[in-house]
This record gives sequence, structure tokens and C-alpha cells, in this order.
Amino acid sequence: GDAATTGKVYKIGTDTTFAPFEFQNDAGEFVGIDIDLLNAIAEDQGFEVELQSLGFNAAVQALEAGQVDGVIAGMSITPKRQEKFDFSDPYFDSGVVMGVKEDNEDIKSYEDLAGKKVAVKIGTEGQTFAESIKDEYGFTTVVFDDSNSMYLDVKSGNSVACFEDYPVMGYAISQGSGLKMVTEKEQGSSYGFAVNKGENAELLEMFNAGLANLKESGKYDEILNTYIQE
Ligand code: GLN
Repeated sequence: GDAATTGKVYKIGTDTTFAPFEFQNDAGEFVGIDIDLLNAIAEDQGFEVELQSLGFNAAVQALEAGQVDGVIAGMSITPKRQEKFDFSDPYFDSGVVMGVKEDNEDIKSYEDLAGKKVAVKIGTEGQTFAESIKDEYGFTTVVFDDSNSMYLDVKSGNSVACFEDYPVMGYAISQGSGLKMVTEKEQGSSYGFAVNKGENAELLEMFNAGLANLKESGKYDEILNTYIQE
């Protein structure tokens, strides 16, 4: 950053737990692809961040209300959100997928959801997708604040399925969440760092410049490889 922005502290809202993008490690430290990228970008560009672990929907609302300067939370760049927010260059490709309990042999397609409950996370692309097909397939939704509660509702058998971003669902499955994926992923949006429309342009510029530098130096790949194995 230039002299005016160097050393400036920005408040950044994030999700509570959305591994491998943001979560607390065994030492209680916030880590993950989003967190490591943000910290590396801040270091590269000479600004400071004050991270606020708010939950996804709460972080987006805090941004709208001007309580934080930016949000990094595996936040999908959608045309609807672009009416309110300016996004950085995309830094990760995603898409929504359906998860069911590991030992569930009954739910194999959206047709099998008829008359059942499906868990979703408030304010997410997964919720938007589920709501868009629920009348067609005849299911109802149960809404949760965070991903873990959503998985637990499926594990407990209250909901028969949930909709989540596939890299996050994939990571949860690899960590023994007790779920499995049974459908192909839906076409999804890429993740971006968000600021309010027309505000914090210098922060967005620094994010993009830092991201480009990390891609160039190999640090971006190094961070991804720390959390995602091929
Ligand atoms: N990528 C999804 C969205 O933007 C979910 C983000 C999240 O749950 N942290 O809606």
C-alpha cells in the first residue's frame, strides 16, 4: 500500500467455522485458507487486520451496516451481492453439493427429498439453491446459523440432507463428519473478498495486488496445499 494506507488497521468479518477456509486449530488459533491468505496479503501490502469471527450471515450484515471494513468468509461472488458489495478478484472456485448421512441409502437424488426436511445455513448460496428447488421436489428447509449445526441435524436424522459448498463438505467428510455426497455439484460462484460498494477501494486494491503477488511467488499454492490435498 501507499503511505496513506500503510499500517492502517482494517476490521474484517469472517465465519465462525467454515473449514478449510476459517476454523480454530487445536491451539485455538484462527487458521484456514481465507485467514492465511488475508494475513499474507496484509503483510505483503503493509496493512493490519483485526479479525472478527461473527458467522457468515452476521459478517455480511456487519459489512452492510459498516461495522466491519471487509468480509472474507468463503463468500461467493453473486450478481445479487454485487449490487451491494464490491468484490476482489476471485480466489477460489466453488459450487453447492448435497450431503446426506454416511449410512443413508435412501436419498440418492433430489427426487428422494419429497416430504422430507433439508438443513440449510442462513444467507448462503446453499440455502438459496435449496429454496429454489424445494417446491419442485416437495421438501421443506430447516435453517441454521452455522455449518456444524447443519451437519449435526443431518447426522441426528432430523434432516435427511443439507446443501453446502463442495470444498467445505469434502473437507468435513475427510475429517469424519459422518456425511457423504451423493449428487454432482451444482454450478457455483467463485469466492471473493468483499467491501461495501464504493467504499474501502484502497483496501480492495491492496487485496488484489497482494493476491497477485502471492500467486506469483507460489505462496498462494503453498497455502492451498496446506489445507487441501489433491
Ligand atoms: N459460499 C457460500 C456463500 O457465499 C457460503 C459461505 C459460508 O457459509 N461461509 O453463500
